[in-house]
Amino acid sequence: MKATVLTIFPEMFPGLLGHSLAGKALEAGKWTLDVVNIRDYAFDKHRTVDDVPFGGGAGMVMKADVLDKALEETYGKSSVKGPLIYFSPRGKTLTQEKARQLAKEEEITLLCGHFEGIDERVFELWPIEQISIGDYILSGGETAAMVLLDAVVRLLPETIGNEESLAEESFENGLLEYPQYTRPAEYKGLKVPEVLVSGHHRKIKEWCLAQSETVTKQRRPDLYEAYLKHKEEKGNL
Ligand code: SAH
Repeated sequence: MKATVLTIFPEMFPGLLGHSLAGKALEAGKWTLDVVNIRDYAFDKHRTVDDVPFGGGAGMVMKADVLDKALEETYGKSSVKGPLIYFSPRGKTLTQEKARQLAKEEEITLLCGHFEGIDERVFELWPIEQISIGDYILSGGETAAMVLLDAVVRLLPETIGNEESLAEESFENGLLEYPQYTRPAEYKGLKVPEVLVSGHHRKIKEWCLAQSETVTKQRRPDLYEAYLKHKEEKGNL
């Protein structure tokens, strides 16, 4: 997968993405990261990318002409033209399902906003999909781009050492993950659940599912409702 990030802070990348799983995958060439400095497409010698908002109000707005030029020279020149994403609190919230979809793409382009955001006309000029990473305000789209890329890159084929660990993760079967334990079997008088050391595979599986259901019901009733509905629909087929 080729990821292109358009930002006014190119030095922030790869940042977190240069470490751990994403970093190893980057080194191994499982994905490539192209970081584009939006300022390179400014029209004046001060390399201005923002201006005051029409109608007044606080803050600055990123200029349509500069962003249009930056997109023309990057996304516009790609023969693949994969998803073009702008990060915004007004976007659809990122989910594991969305990350899975994006992991199948050959190319993704990510536009990071700053200040108060970008001139609305950019959305009319380009087929932009807006994505939010949650109901809170960040100071820029760069951290959101890192969150999205981290979630997507670990789903690329042969990226995670153990594919099974993906299948059992939170959200993958509509449930949150069950509690996990590792050695020692007893620590400060706290023992791991009997069943896990029993070696009885079917019972372990049942225990994990029951725990997943309980945790999901308690912590995310919204997910649990959807899970029950899905289960019912499957049972009726
Ligand atoms: N004035 C805007 C917020 C601007 S925050 C509003 O009220 O909607 C500056 C930039 O940070 C945004 O342009 C966006 O690219 C990024 N950003 C902020 N919060 C975000 C979130 N929850 N998800 C994704 N990107 C976000």
